[in-house]
Amino acid sequence: MQIFNTQIELEGFLSKIRKKGIKIGFVPTMGALHEGHLDLVKKSVEENDYTLVSIYVNELQFNNPIDFNNYPITKEDDIEMLKQVSCDAVFMPSSEVMYPKGYKKISLELGNLVDVFEGPLRPGHFDGVVQVVYRLFDYIKPNTAYFGLKDYQQCMVIKALKNQFFHSIHLVFCPTIRMETGLAMSSRNKRLSPLGLIEASYLYKALTTIRDLSIHIEAFDAINYGKLLLQKRQIEVEYLELANADTLAPGKRWFRKNKNIVLLAVNIEGVRLIDNIGF
Ligand code: AMP
Repeated sequence: MQIFNTQIELEGFLSKIRKKGIKIGFVPTMGALHEGHLDLVKKSVEENDYTLVSIYVNELQFNNPIDFNNYPITKEDDIEMLKQVSCDAVFMPSSEVMYPKGYKKISLELGNLVDVFEGPLRPGHFDGVVQVVYRLFDYIKPNTAYFGLKDYQQCMVIKALKNQFFHSIHLVFCPTIRMETGLAMSSRNKRLSPLGLIEASYLYKALTTIRDLSIHIEAFDAINYGKLLLQKRQIEVEYLELANADTLAPGKRWFRKNKNIVLLAVNIEGVRLIDNIGF
């Protein structure tokens, strides 16, 4: 597996293989890899001739410095895991490579998309995501890029980025990979105690309960029931809400089939977790 650390080596190599018609698949990550990330990588390996994974903990997207400083770094394990799934290359830039002196910030009109859910709770987060993914797309110019639906709002932001700047990049959004308990895999799970992990499994229980109730009762009541389930476990809920799956506009009544998305963010043992379910 090739390892690139600078833009120059990366761009030089990729432009050569692109000229040969080799299809490039790209999976951006912040490392501390788990089966959720590897699922995206496996899809890319299946669907492309050459798969590149980036590992970069993007400080710009952390609104909370404690969260940034505590973000797990497991470089050697990450490289080993990527080798196991036949990944072709990894790009591990420094901050100087990612954001060289005098780099130009781009501006992307995201409208209502960032007025809800993670937007107001994590000021600057999506702008940070946009800056890093713009720069990565620009360096790499992949044929296809893979993202996880676990970060549903992020997927919609990336779609807006593509529509404005990168028409030729094909986006693939992949389903959330979960532990046996239903807990969505996340690098942040590493910071939970065994008890915290058990508590966190109630997130998916609440989401599936809401989905299952949707054929019997009104949305408002189902959502409240889900909140109650979590509060009974002493889980601190930041939001648990229904929205339109296409626009992310919050709703009090069910949308039509396959247009419902229920999103949540909670804190368990000081670790912020997000999840969602679509139906
Ligand atoms: P991160 O390293 O957290 O920035 O995540 C990198 C990519 O992996 C993003 O597109 C995430 O949405 C995706 N991802 C993270 N966790 C999961 C999961 N449990 N299942 C599927 N994709 C995931």
